[in-house]
Formats: sequence, structure tokens, C-alpha cells
Amino acid sequence: MFDVRLYGDPVLRKTAEPVEKFDDNLKRLVEEMNETLRAEDGVGLAAPQVGKSVKVVVIDTTNGEAEPVVLVNPVIVESSEEMITSEEGCLSVPGISLSVPRHAVVTVKAFDLNGKEFKIEKADGLMAKALQHEIDHLNGIMIVDHVSVLQRTMLSSKLKKMAKSGRDKSQVS
Ligand SMILES: [Zn+2]
Repeated sequence: MFDVRLYGDPVLRKTAEPVEKFDDNLKRLVEEMNETLRAEDGVGLAAPQVGKSVKVVVIDTTNGEAEPVVLVNPVIVESSEEMITSEEGCLSVPGISLSVPRHAVVTVKAFDLNGKEFKIEKADGLMAKALQHEIDHLNGIMIVDHVSVLQRTMLSSKLKKMAKSGRDKSQVS
């Protein structure tokens, strides 16, 4: 199982590299990400959150009932004009939940573990939210970037503390 990197860890701010080899290393990474997702009771996890700057995401909207969906090199190819704002948390920003506006419906193109392309057509609800949240991580974007300046100011001391511990952790691991 991986340690989840926290806000302040520079890996969370990098643009992740696309996966080029669909090999055993990728399978191992995904297996361990799935384990971490389960252990943390999360809905989704992006590779940068476990310190790997590659475009890999796992999502489980079933609360552990089904195997997580694995998305390699995912891209949003269509998104609704309609936006929905709802509360979101993030394993990398523990203890904080923020109102984040997201497209209500998105279509995402990605590759599976074997390098086969597939599409998630017109995802909505929790899946739409998770896809946008996790794909954001691959571009170095976090939930705090979506909120108003006022909201962020109110959070600033909490985030500063987290950023400090995130940096400290990244130095030792
Ligand atoms: Zn997150």
C-alpha cells in the first residue's frame, strides 16, 4: 500500500506524464493504487497522490462492491454546459470539504490496462464528479483551486499547516 501524498507535496502540482508502456509495472502500480483506495475508503485516486507522476486514475463509485474502474491517459472529450456545485473532499487534503462546481455530465476517453481504448459515455452523478476530480490531479489541479478567494482565505491557515507537513513527508519518503 502507498502513502497518500498531502497538500504541499510538489508531486501534486506537477503535470503527470502519459503512460507509454502497458506492462507489468503499470499493472503493479494499479494494483497497489486499488489497495490504497480501499484502505483509505476513497472514491478515486490519481497516481500523483501516491507520488507517481503518471496519467493513471482508479475510481470506485460502488463503495467497494465492484472492482475500481482503471483509466490510463484519460481525457475529457465532452462536457455539459450545465454545472453542479456540491461538496467534495480529497484524500490529499484530509479533513476539508469544499463546494466545487463541476460539469453535470462528461464523456471521457481512456485506455485500459492492456492499452485498449475505451469511452465512458455521458457519466453523471458521482462518476462525473470523480472523473473531473481525478483528471484534475493529473494536471496538478486540486479542489482548493476551484473555490473562491474568500473560501481559500478562510482555509489558509489550515492549508499552510498541511503544506508544511506535506513537504516534510515528501522529504523523508
Ligand atoms: Zn483528490
